Amino acid sequence: MDSNSIESAARSLSASRLTIALTGAGISVESGIPPFRGPGSLWEKIDPMEFAHIDSFLKNPARVWEILVKSLKETLDSAQPNKGHLALAHLEERGLLSSVITQNVDSLHQKAGSRDVIEFHGTFAKHTCMGCGKGIKSEALSLDQLPPTCPCGGIYRPDCIFFGEPIPTEPLKRSQELSLQCDVMLVVGTSAVVQPAAMMPPLAKSKGATIIEVNPSPTPLTATITDIYLQGGAGEILSQLTEACAIPMG
Ligand code: NAD
Repeated sequence: MDSNSIESAARSLSASRLTIALTGAGISVESGIPPFRGPGSLWEKIDPMEFAHIDSFLKNPARVWEILVKSLKETLDSAQPNKGHLALAHLEERGLLSSVITQNVDSLHQKAGSRDVIEFHGTFAKHTCMGCGKGIKSEALSLDQLPPTCPCGGIYRPDCIFFGEPIPTEPLKRSQELSLQCDVMLVVGTSAVVQPAAMMPPLAKSKGATIIEVNPSPTPLTATITDIYLQGGAGEILSQLTEACAIPMG
C-alpha cells in the first residue's frame, strides 16, 4: 500500500467533523466468515434466490434452516472480531469515527467495542418466533430439531432480513441522515452492489463527503466516486490507518 494514500486518508480523518463507516461482508472475512460474492463466497455454493429469499423461507423453513441458516448461525456464533473491527472501535474511542453502518449480521463490530452500530440488515444474534413474537438469543437456541420451534409451536427466524424484505425504517432513516451529514465516509469490505445500502456512498458524495474505500478488489465505486482507494485487506489497512492517525493499536 502506498504510504501517501494512507497518510492522505489519515489527514482526511483528522480534519473531518463527522466520519462514518459503511462496512460489508469483506471486513469479516479475516474472522473466518465467507462473503456472499467473490472467490470462496457462499453464492459459489448455493443459489441465493433459492435459499435466502423470504418466499423460500416461508414456503419451506426446514429446508432453508438446514441448508443456509444453521451453518451461518454456527459460523457467526463462534466468530471473533479481527484487526479491522478493532481498528474501527479504536477510531470511535478516539473521537475520529462517529458511527458504523454495517450490512453484516455478525455483531462483530459490537464485540470489538464499537458503540454506535447501525445494523442495516438486522442481526443473527437474536431469533424471533413467527408465532408469538418472542425473541431468543442465538446461543440459547437449540438446533436439535429443524426448524427450531418456540414452546408455543411457532417457528424461529433470524432477526436479519431475507432477500425480498424491506430494510427496517429506523436504520434506513439514520443511515441516510448520517450519509448526508458526514464529511468522510470509510467504505470497507463491501462490493457496493446490494441496494439500498449501496446508495449511501453516492448520497454522502452528493453533499461533498470524501469517500475512502478499503477493499482488495475494485468495486463500482472505485473508479467513479472514491477519492482515496486503499487496496488490501481490512485488517492490515485499517491498522495502518489508525497508526497513521497517531493512535497506537493495543
Ligand atoms: P459482498 O459479499 O457482496 O462483497 C464482499 C466484498 O468484500 C468484496 O468487494 C470483496 O472484494 C471484499 N473483501 C474480501 N476480502 C476482504 C478483506 N479481507 N478486507 C476487505 N474487503 C474484503 O458483501 P456485501 O457488499 O456486504 O453484500 C453482501 C450482503 O451479504 C450484505 O448485505 C450482508 O448483509 C450479507 N453478508 C453478511 C455477512 C456477515 O455478517 N459477516 C457475511 C456474508 C454476507
